[in-house]
Amino acid sequence: MEHDAPDPKQDMTDLSGPPATSLRRALQILGDPWTMLILKESFNGTRRFSGFQRALNIPKQTLSLRLAALCRDQMMYRRYTGPGASMLDYAPTPKTLDLQDAMYAIWLWHRATPGGAEVLPFDIVHRSCGQVISASYRCTACGAPATSDSVTIQRTQPEQVDTAPRPRLARRNDASFTAAVPNFQAMIAASVVGDLPCNEILYLLFQAPLHLLGIAHDLGLGVSVVRDRLDKLMALGLVAEEAQGRKLLYSVLPRAEGFFPLLLAIADWGDRWCNAGGPPPDQRIHSCGALLRPRYACDHCGDWLSRDTLTIRMHGETGD
Ligand SMILES: [Zn+2]
Ligand SMILES: [Zn+2]
Repeated sequence: MEHDAPDPKQDMTDLSGPPATSLRRALQILGDPWTMLILKESFNGTRRFSGFQRALNIPKQTLSLRLAALCRDQMMYRRYTGPGASMLDYAPTPKTLDLQDAMYAIWLWHRATPGGAEVLPFDIVHRSCGQVISASYRCTACGAPATSDSVTIQRTQPEQVDTAPRPRLARRNDASFTAAVPNFQAMIAASVVGDLPCNEILYLLFQAPLHLLGIAHDLGLGVSVVRDRLDKLMALGLVAEEAQGRKLLYSVLPRAEGFFPLLLAIADWGDRWCNAGGPPPDQRIHSCGALLRPRYACDHCGDWLSRDTLTIRMHGETGD
């Protein structure tokens, strides 16, 4: 391949910003490590401010700000409960509960990662068959798995551009946060799952290998931000770097496949909740030809997973 050939990404008509994606719209709300952890706690039933604080060991001020943002984004609402309505709690809205597939994806990814069970010390049990879940993300039209090889991501026409400014991104991936988390695996999860650029880079590289400048251009991100995240993703064994002529080409490694369902689940959720009634900015097409509407299916009994057939069981609790 002629490595001096013009990069088509560089020749793209100059838009006022990077093309919108379903993933980015969702991550404007979710792409923060503390936010993901707070939502995880909420899924597990935590409702009180003090409960979140205890479970996450999160600074009060940080928790206050994140909960306020989640209420503003209609992910949670404040509710008075207890005797004489004297206690305030934070309840998840349907918009949050609809993130279930993303939560299962994170849990399943941790289970497949050494040490992961300590980070999320609870089991998700499928009541239909009584087994701790092992599940695959599948196309509901044909039943086959939705893998990076079998899914094509297409921009819808006319191409959409979001004009709202991106949230401020740390140039480097949140060192202050990782210092608060004692466990390396937890750091991986929170710093990749909860980091907007890491997710966006993986989503893009799942579509095709790219050069550094191609990634930066396509995502409308600074080169130093992209460089920092690529270093992190390489250190975690998720992305590979390969010399191609004078340029370096980046591609996803097989180990990253575990993240693909998570990205799909977040993009799918973004299409349901973050398009303000308009069309989605991109769509995912399965190899069977159907517009992908993915769901998790239990590997033990084959049934589709749904929230009302699952139970969360903390480690140390006896099952019933
Ligand atoms: Zn299909
Ligand atoms: Zn089952």
